[in-house]
Amino acid sequence: MMINEIPTSQRAIAITFDDGPNPVYTPQVLEIFSEAKGKATFFMIGEQMRNHPEIVKQVAAEGHEIGNHTFTHPKLSQLSKAECLTEIEQTEKLIEELAGQKPVIFRPPYLDYNQETVTLLQNKEYPMIGALNLEAQDWEQPGVEHIFEKSREAVKNGSILIFHDGYGDRSQTIEAVRMLVSELTLQGYKLVTVSELLARA
Ligand SMILES: [Zn+2]
Repeated sequence: MMINEIPTSQRAIAITFDDGPNPVYTPQVLEIFSEAKGKATFFMIGEQMRNHPEIVKQVAAEGHEIGNHTFTHPKLSQLSKAECLTEIEQTEKLIEELAGQKPVIFRPPYLDYNQETVTLLQNKEYPMIGALNLEAQDWEQPGVEHIFEKSREAVKNGSILIFHDGYGDRSQTIEAVRMLVSELTLQGYKLVTVSELLARA
């Protein structure tokens, strides 16, 4: 149900960033990907987008993908169906308004969901996107080395990797991603959006 990787014979992976946009860290991520000539995917929170619309526009203008990550970042399994729908659709509208494109992928906050969430997302034709490097736990700030090592262990054709560019101090994440992107580029990996990876499958 949760898509953590997209099997492909091509040397391509999708790196994703949750909980932004953030005025300090999102531009640093954009810089890293611009230098590497790669694309990233940002699962943005509606509330944050409302606070930083200019960053949303910049992310979209530079060709990265913006996915739906709800409006207020709740645990969806604890909400009613109507509340879930509001969370998803408010965010959808805002992404469309700011990025000029409707989001086509979804990641539930805390990767938390129940059968009702699954049905709802299926009805809305949203694939639910997870990741292979959950052990990296960049949100816990476990150290640059830890984030880097656990993430590179999860690298193969079609991997989806999760990081965070929002909430709290993300400087460890930025350093680890800088190292990872540099290594992946040397190894010939193409850094693509989740939708691009889905299309290559
Ligand atoms: Zn999140």
